[in-house]
Amino acid sequence: MLLTAQLLLSYQRCHRQAFLDTYEDKSQKNAPSDFLNKLRQDRIEHQRSFFAHQTWVEPEYPKYDWQAGAQATLALMAAGVPQIRRGVLLVKYRNEAYFQSIPDLLTKVPGDSELGDWHYVPTDIRLSKRPKLEYQILVTFHASLLARVQGRYPENAFLYLRERGTYEVNLTVNQPKLDLLLVELQEILDKRQEPEVFIVNNRCNLCGWLSYCYEIAQQDQHLSLLPGVTPSRYPILQSQNIASVEALSLADPSHLAQATGLSAEVTIKLVCQAQAFTQQSPVIFAPTVANATSPQLSPAPIELYFDIEAEPSLNLAYLHGVLVVDREAQTQTFHALLAEQPDQEEQAWLQFLNLVLRYPHAPIYHFCAYEVQTVERLAALYGTSADVVQPLIKRFIDLHALVTRTVVLPVESYTLKLIARWIGFQWRNSEANGAQSIYWYSEWQATGNREFIETIVDYNEDDCQATYQIKNWLTAFLAESEQTALLPG
Ligand code: SF4
Repeated sequence: MLLTAQLLLSYQRCHRQAFLDTYEDKSQKNAPSDFLNKLRQDRIEHQRSFFAHQTWVEPEYPKYDWQAGAQATLALMAAGVPQIRRGVLLVKYRNEAYFQSIPDLLTKVPGDSELGDWHYVPTDIRLSKRPKLEYQILVTFHASLLARVQGRYPENAFLYLRERGTYEVNLTVNQPKLDLLLVELQEILDKRQEPEVFIVNNRCNLCGWLSYCYEIAQQDQHLSLLPGVTPSRYPILQSQNIASVEALSLADPSHLAQATGLSAEVTIKLVCQAQAFTQQSPVIFAPTVANATSPQLSPAPIELYFDIEAEPSLNLAYLHGVLVVDREAQTQTFHALLAEQPDQEEQAWLQFLNLVLRYPHAPIYHFCAYEVQTVERLAALYGTSADVVQPLIKRFIDLHALVTRTVVLPVESYTLKLIARWIGFQWRNSEANGAQSIYWYSEWQATGNREFIETIVDYNEDDCQATYQIKNWLTAFLAESEQTALLPG
């Protein structure tokens, strides 16, 4: 048994992932998406630029022969090599069971150890902007294995992050957390206790086991498929013997609130959500938030539908897509305001402002808060006057907020994709998504092939169209519900 740093990282993301990585047939796992491959490539580039300014020695050993790798690394450490790249640390913790880690860099520093009057400290090189806890734990794992190998706990341990540079990890704080995680992980692996499936979109969307787990969740009608059933609420529902979507749909929200301490608003929404699923039809949740004639939904002569494509890790907004719907002239015109190169972001921003200021009374529909946040960020970055930006932001209407506060839909997540697909909208490219768009943009930059740009623009236009369709659907659905409510009997 090899308990590796990679397994520890998987365990921190999802207990089940570490279990499946150890025991399940890997052929069931999806191939990494283009986006994941891009992230891996970016990490390699980040490491390359870091090591370009360093000198180091790398241990030589036959591929996957970790014993040989650990011996070669120890030989380099004993010789006092100043920096060792990708050294292998291997520590036996039980019969035939080893901890293994491969820190990106081991640096020699003064201070007695079994090696002599020096010892080594670990550094891991990560793309992340923030020193995420999972990476701090990983570096702590390197440190604790190093302690066993060199007979001295390292004085420091570091992360080297893309924007922030060097970050010192607090080993004293993280060591007890690591110890606990290792005990839990060993227990799950030793007892072969397969952790229950639990679909959490943000986490699972990047996991290779998604198709495998999703199939199980669907077969079981697992509650985690319901929006609102979070990992913290799930055991609360279980404590009330609510283990299926159907059971939740039959629950009494006020009784559930009393019994669990969840707020009445939460329990009403959970039960409505389960009912929407079992009936496969939408349920009005709060008609007071919006109705068909409320100002946010009533038709304007000209409406704008807005969607941004961005690379968050670079703080780069590379496309502002705006669909101009002229209801009087019955025309739709799509505008793609594109930064073909990252240094054209300001130019695309100014083109966007020019366009939306041409329609000073048009509401600007978008989906989720990201568009407003990005407009605020770009205005601050490029010194756009508050007199221009503030009135502009007042025209923004977040359809995601309107939908989620007004109706409950039989969808597994309130994303633009799932809602629009549920009302019948189809994207021209069925594989397109935000992560894929980031990949296409990086491919465009690497290859100069304009097909990538055209694909991004088509995808963005479809996102704007999808937003438009959702607005139309919501208005029509609320109008129909109001009429039904007025019917006698
Ligand atoms: S798909 Fe989700 S539940 Fe399944 S292993 Fe991956 S992260 Fe865990």
